[in-house]
Amino acid sequence: MKAKIALLPGDGIGVEVAGEAVKVLSAVAAKFGHEFEFNEGIVGGTAIDQTGTALPDETLRLCESSDAILFGAVGGPKWDIPSAKARPEQGILGLRKHFDLFANLRPVKAYPALAQHTPLRADLLEGVDMLFVRELTGGIYFGARQEQGDGDTAFDTEVYSVPEVERVVHVAFRAAQGRRKKLASIDKFNILASSRLWRSTVMKVHEDYSDVALEHILIDACTMHLITRPASFDVLVASNMFGDIITDEASVLAGSLGMLPSASLGASKFGLYEPIHGTAPDIAGQGKANPTGSILSAAMMLRYSFGLEAEADAVERAVDGALAAGARTADIAPRGGAHKGQFISTAEYTAAVLANL
Ligand code: NAD
Repeated sequence: MKAKIALLPGDGIGVEVAGEAVKVLSAVAAKFGHEFEFNEGIVGGTAIDQTGTALPDETLRLCESSDAILFGAVGGPKWDIPSAKARPEQGILGLRKHFDLFANLRPVKAYPALAQHTPLRADLLEGVDMLFVRELTGGIYFGARQEQGDGDTAFDTEVYSVPEVERVVHVAFRAAQGRRKKLASIDKFNILASSRLWRSTVMKVHEDYSDVALEHILIDACTMHLITRPASFDVLVASNMFGDIITDEASVLAGSLGMLPSASLGASKFGLYEPIHGTAPDIAGQGKANPTGSILSAAMMLRYSFGLEAEADAVERAVDGALAAGARTADIAPRGGAHKGQFISTAEYTAAVLANL
């Protein structure tokens, strides 16, 4: 197949890891006979420096004429000026909004080889392989709000409509059908009216997916179950805020922030793919970044935007293979044993992945 990919590396290690994902996608194209055209655009702090805005029109047009976006990360101390009108994160928020990317998919897998990098016992991590689906364009982050101002009150509003919940829940059920056929829906049904709408909508949508086992879990209980029985979960679906919090908790199970990919999808096959981490100013420019999150985001692009399941599997297996063979960037360097503290560079790690493809 032929596909056009908008490459938006952004700032800091975003640039370093996105470049490694391009190497992997290019290798996939060569191996499986596809043609991927990469066109680079500026976004975030780099775009502010060059144009005064984090998401220039030219970048937006480039994305509109592409089949998918490969995004690095944006931000850094240079642009952390509280009074500034242009802020790097406007780049990513603007893209999500412009393309109505309402479903954020975050797979979380525990790698046995990295068990020593997580605070959980190895036996609890066995078989941990879950997919979070977070609603991304609604809820309390976008509801009516009042700043404190000069008064002594401030508020934010959690608002959801049935269609908003339906569309993201359909994404979650369909994902569960392609996996272990289990869906956990997270809410605060006992307290919040918006959660009661959420739950009743989930139950209604479930009628279309009778092959999927549905479990409702309160957000507070879920934070606990994620630690006590992480392997029992398959797909989990949550509102914007609950999803934001619970996915950060879950990321600990993978051993490093650098391991985790994500996809943001809308109603079509078009999607934005990015690692969940930021620009890591503390290690930027040192060849130390772990490119796994970006490489696995590329695998998600192959699966969700291009329908290339076998190719996506091949990339994921190549990462597993590289890790099993001992490839380790600094963040996942062995903490004990004969290879304690030893690590390889970002590029060497990608070479190990490519050797396993
Ligand atoms: P961060 O994710 O950049 O870094 C947190 C810690 O994890 C750092 O110690 C970093 O070295 C480490 N780390 C992150 N990714 C890594 C990787 N691939 N390999 C190895 N180590 C890795 O979060 P932060 O420090 O809170 O934020 C730094 C900047 O990134 C800020 O400007 C923030 O706004 C921005 N940010 C951007 C995004 C995005 O673009 N989507 C997301 C989060 C943060």
